[in-house]
Amino acid sequence: MPIVLAVHGGAWNIPDAAVEAHREGVREALRAGWAALSEGGSALDAVEIAVRVLEEDPTFDAGVGSRLNRERKVELDASIMCGRELNAGAVAAVQRVRHPISLARKVMEETHHVMLCGQGASQFADEIGMKRCRTRDLLVGRELERYERVMAGDRRPVQEEFEKPAPMGTVGAIAMDGRGNLAAATSTGGIQDKMPGRVGDTPIPGSGTFADNKLGAASCTGHGEKIMRVVLAKAAVDRLAGDVHPSTAGMGALSTMRRVRGKGGLILLDRYGRVSARFNTPRMARGVADEAKGLRVGVDRGALRR
Ligand code: ASP
Repeated sequence: MPIVLAVHGGAWNIPDAAVEAHREGVREALRAGWAALSEGGSALDAVEIAVRVLEEDPTFDAGVGSRLNRERKVELDASIMCGRELNAGAVAAVQRVRHPISLARKVMEETHHVMLCGQGASQFADEIGMKRCRTRDLLVGRELERYERVMAGDRRPVQEEFEKPAPMGTVGAIAMDGRGNLAAATSTGGIQDKMPGRVGDTPIPGSGTFADNKLGAASCTGHGEKIMRVVLAKAAVDRLAGDVHPSTAGMGALSTMRRVRGKGGLILLDRYGRVSARFNTPRMARGVADEAKGLRVGVDRGALRR
């Protein structure tokens, strides 16, 4: 079985000045996840490790660098899925957790549930002894500045942020290991000016994240309110049936976003290790690592480069 890892750092109008930070962030995540995968680690470990690196990088809207909600709180969403048994774990609107993806994995492995949200997710983090952080540990300057602007009356529709340069970028990873197991993981601070308790597609298996050894794995990014309505990750994986190439399947799934006028993108992997990224935004930060071509990243349309 070929081993492969793909990651993304969000689909939006990434400004030129931020391109290098995105490329480097994605590259770092690939390096870390690939190290685990190439030493015989599981696809699940690889996607968790890669997403943890992206959560730590303030370039992206996940973990450190997340968005504030209207009440000046950071509420984080994440999910992880294992394609062997269709196991999934998720946390939604959880606060003061530096690595929500690891908490999501704990939900999958140590509870009888798939998703814990809000206070319950925080309580679970405490119960398992996960170190909590302060809200301010998750914030970088730009987010505080934007919040001040929002509070001063800027109420432009959320849709605009996927078309105009604005700091954001949900993160995700998909992988296949040497045993043919597939996994997917996605993590986000959510969207600008979200209401307290708002949950997007990211923690919802089938919407933001999906993995099934029989078909493939996907991680999505974009306007969650739209992605949820077309169940994008599952729609993309289902389109791999009949050995359709991920490039075709991904494009087909993304075209369903037209009905809801949704902006975003996805990375998609099939059970043969073929990978594709599709997006209807100006740019998408993404990268792939495999044995044949090594590690490649990109933000613009077209081929990835080293
Ligand atoms: N999908 C995320 C959400 O709606 C945002 C993003 O991907 O940038 O919460």
